[in-house]
Amino acid sequence: MAVFNTLQNVEDLYEIGDVLGSGHYAQVREVRERTSGVLWAGKFMKIRKCASSRMGIERKSVEKEVEVLQTLQHTNIMALKDVFESRAEVVLVLELISGGELFDFIAEKENLMETEAIEFMKQILLGVGFMHSKQIGHFDLKPENIMLSDKNTPNPRIKIIDFGLAHRFQTGEEYKCMSGTPQYIPPEVINYEPLSTAVDMWSVGVITYILLSGTSPFQGCTDEETLSNIVALNYEFDDQHFSKTSAMAKDFIQKLFVIDKIERMTAEEGLFHPWIKPLTRKQVDNRNRASINMKNFKRFNAKRKWKMSYNMVWMCNRLRRLNGVCKTVAPAAEELRQCESDQEDNDIKPASLIRRRLSSTS
Ligand code: ATP
Repeated sequence: MAVFNTLQNVEDLYEIGDVLGSGHYAQVREVRERTSGVLWAGKFMKIRKCASSRMGIERKSVEKEVEVLQTLQHTNIMALKDVFESRAEVVLVLELISGGELFDFIAEKENLMETEAIEFMKQILLGVGFMHSKQIGHFDLKPENIMLSDKNTPNPRIKIIDFGLAHRFQTGEEYKCMSGTPQYIPPEVINYEPLSTAVDMWSVGVITYILLSGTSPFQGCTDEETLSNIVALNYEFDDQHFSKTSAMAKDFIQKLFVIDKIERMTAEEGLFHPWIKPLTRKQVDNRNRASINMKNFKRFNAKRKWKMSYNMVWMCNRLRRLNGVCKTVAPAAEELRQCESDQEDNDIKPASLIRRRLSSTS
């Protein structure tokens, strides 16, 4: 069992500040180091008290997240500084990422050329490639987990966050897990097949597709429809949304939307794809002419933000209701974390998906 700092309270060394964000079971707050005045982010997680309890997160999961973060020191990955543990909670002291989400930053712009988007994609590939070189899969890559260290610099730096579902592969290990957000998961997750780091590359394909067009490639009216679109590889580059997109960008995405995970482009290969690293004058010119469908992207992002707030309010209300009325059936916060719905309509709530598809085995 990993040993965290239990001798001191986080408050002894840090002044606790405002809430920066919340996840399914964690609250992230700005914290100021008392000795240096330096600002960090504190991720406060309630630990499940006993195996039968349904509230809080298992200590084992936190240990896994900490171990992954300790392995990952890279400029495009959020850094871990310290870990504190008290009787009821674990606090991760993390690098403060103050530039907000990449998608929000882009949505504020009037227009964006593909070349500018490529600079961000390159950094995502570098971060993901580093993770994969350490045999670690993130398994929850989506716009909410791609942030910027500081948006007021000329070249903002990408920071990948939230390693709550990440997994480090042991040699020869077979790992299966049904988790993630429907829009972004590959067929092998849905089919409950052995997973590899290639899962993340499919998600990179979805993020790129959305970034360029403002539409989500496999999105159906319900989660079921989304999942069946993914398994059937049912997507297209329709002219309406991709009229300004370069052929190289489409090729980049096509090489990621490959059912066979062995054939899917890796992060390392992606960095050498001509869309990211053009070799000829013609390729450079093609890239320079292409741009992002900003009107549609802004619309997508506004809807995404609205859904995020809706889901958060809905889950809080559900947890409150279930805790008050019927304690035994309350979903563990961890379950809510493992599978998040992003269906268009809300007749079937995220919990239905949770019931259908959960569990993780190594
Ligand atoms: P999930 O519900 O996806 O499992 P979680 O409970 O593990 O999430 P995080 O996603 O790690 O929590 O963090 C919740 C929110 O807090 C993020 O969406 C982000 O807005 C904010 N956040 C997380 N880490 C940082 C950081 N290092 N600096 C600034 N804000 C952060």
